[in-house]
Amino acid sequence: MKIIIHGGFFSESHTDADTKKAKQDAMERIVKQAYAYLENHTAQETVVYAVSLLEDDPLFNAGIGSQIQSDGKIRMSAAVMDGATMKMSGVINIEEVKNPVKVAELLLPYEDRILGGEGATAFARKNGHEPFSTEIKQRRKEYKEKLKSNGLGTVGCVALDNKGNLAVATSTGGKGFEMVGRISDSATVAGNYANAYCAVSCTGVGEDIVSNATATKIVTRVTDGMSLKDAFSKTFDEMKPYDGFCGAIAIDHDGNIYHDDSHPTMVYAGYNGKNLDMFR
Ligand code: ASP
Repeated sequence: MKIIIHGGFFSESHTDADTKKAKQDAMERIVKQAYAYLENHTAQETVVYAVSLLEDDPLFNAGIGSQIQSDGKIRMSAAVMDGATMKMSGVINIEEVKNPVKVAELLLPYEDRILGGEGATAFARKNGHEPFSTEIKQRRKEYKEKLKSNGLGTVGCVALDNKGNLAVATSTGGKGFEMVGRISDSATVAGNYANAYCAVSCTGVGEDIVSNATATKIVTRVTDGMSLKDAFSKTFDEMKPYDGFCGAIAIDHDGNIYHDDSHPTMVYAGYNGKNLDMFR
């Protein structure tokens, strides 16, 4: 069993030491809690659980603490993909739900599995997700000051369960101040992808991640026999011509855990039941 989570980017220039410590504590608590959950649950159930814990923590830009868009509203996106069944489901620009990733999971058995905007919100309401404001004071303050600084805090989780199945989930409040209708990478195969060989979750600038099809490329390369390390290296090199801003976490079917980021510093924590590997 293996698990790795991310909490977006930590920018030294825009966040203080106390916030860094708070994020480290939260990452350690959540990765260990999710690992314990993985002992009795599938990889797919566990990635949703881990991402819902990250969504509930206002330190991260997903669920509670999401960024505010240019019109003053919060719209969130989340997706889950089960590597065993190769089914992906997601919600794009959903409003006023506490846990977008749980709504994404509810869509897994449906034929129509990725819903956007009003349809996604209506589906959530129909399935018992009461209206819930995920706004926090800090984001409104940033919105009012039009500070775009600390926005990249998407969350994600990749897990390998004791049956050898991989899964991934990703959730975001977006970039902040984006145009209404803008679509994040998190509920696309560029930002969230898994099969039986590899699972990957990304964070960073959605447009850069989509341009490079990052998660899909890494998974495809590992499927075709490349090592996780080489697949990351080649895929990250391909973002260099346009200075793509991206971080990614992954696990392959042999249980290798990997992560990389194009810019300092992705917030991540990996755990195998014994050793904790975390951003410092
Ligand atoms: N990838 C997200 C987006 O572009 C932002 C993030 O990772 O924080 O919407």
